[in-house]
Amino acid sequence: MSLVLDNVSYRYPGSTHGLHEVSLDVRAGELVAVIGPSGSGKSTLLKLVSGLTTGHTGRIVFGGQDMSAMPVHQRRMGMVFQNYALFPHLSVLDNVAYGLKLRKVPVAERHRRAQELLGIVGLSGYAQRGIGQLSGGQQQRVALARALAIDPQALLLDEPLSALDASVRGHLRDEIRAIQQRFGATTLLVTHDQEEALVMADRVAMLKDGRLLQIATPRELYEQP
Ligand code: ADP
Ligand code: ADP
Repeated sequence: MSLVLDNVSYRYPGSTHGLHEVSLDVRAGELVAVIGPSGSGKSTLLKLVSGLTTGHTGRIVFGGQDMSAMPVHQRRMGMVFQNYALFPHLSVLDNVAYGLKLRKVPVAERHRRAQELLGIVGLSGYAQRGIGQLSGGQQQRVALARALAIDPQALLLDEPLSALDASVRGHLRDEIRAIQQRFGATTLLVTHDQEEALVMADRVAMLKDGRLLQIATPRELYEQP
């Protein structure tokens, strides 16, 4: 489903910062990387689309439906945020199944689905482990599996790989891209890593001071003088 931002602005209470008149059209199944300096509004953009932050002006339309009044859990958007942490007291399986539980999916079905997702991210044998027993890369995979468990129509990924070693990061890049394409999920990927944006994205959106400076394909960016 396509995601359309139409003249979206948001100001943090008591601040002049946020997002200013951003219009962006993400096609169904497309991966748009969002880049820009620290403080340029990348996280704000994702939080508005996810519904974690509310109160914008302009319109956010997903699959033809205005999202403004829709609660987070009805949006069918999978999120992997830096500070949207895993639940340390739950097993790997229960972390992945969490969104399904919120949606009142019966226990047998949600465990089946969670196991399936753990297979997809390469963690089949880890269902009963505690989160604290996993490496950083494994935790990122669990976060990704949790985001995918709800059959998301959109994926919102805020620096999902930034905490990882370069070697793990390269591998997970490929996996995220493969999974995203397999699910056909319309995706916004925030990264401060330009190379990551260029190798992963269909298009790259550049923010600065809360405004959208440019949106272009990696090829167009390479060919710029
Ligand atoms: P980025 O993700 O690109 O680093 P953010 O979206 O986090 O940028 O922030 C955009 C701007 O909004 C920054 O100037 C930041 O300081 C400000 N900002 C972010 N969160 C808040 C907040 N909770 N209250 C006030 N200002 C905020
Ligand atoms: P990032 O740049 O990765 O988004 P930050 O370190 O800027 O992370 O922000 C961490 C948290 O602090 C976020 O939840 C953000 O909303 C909040 N925040 C950022 N800037 C401000 C600010 N100027 N005032 C209040 N909260 C802020």
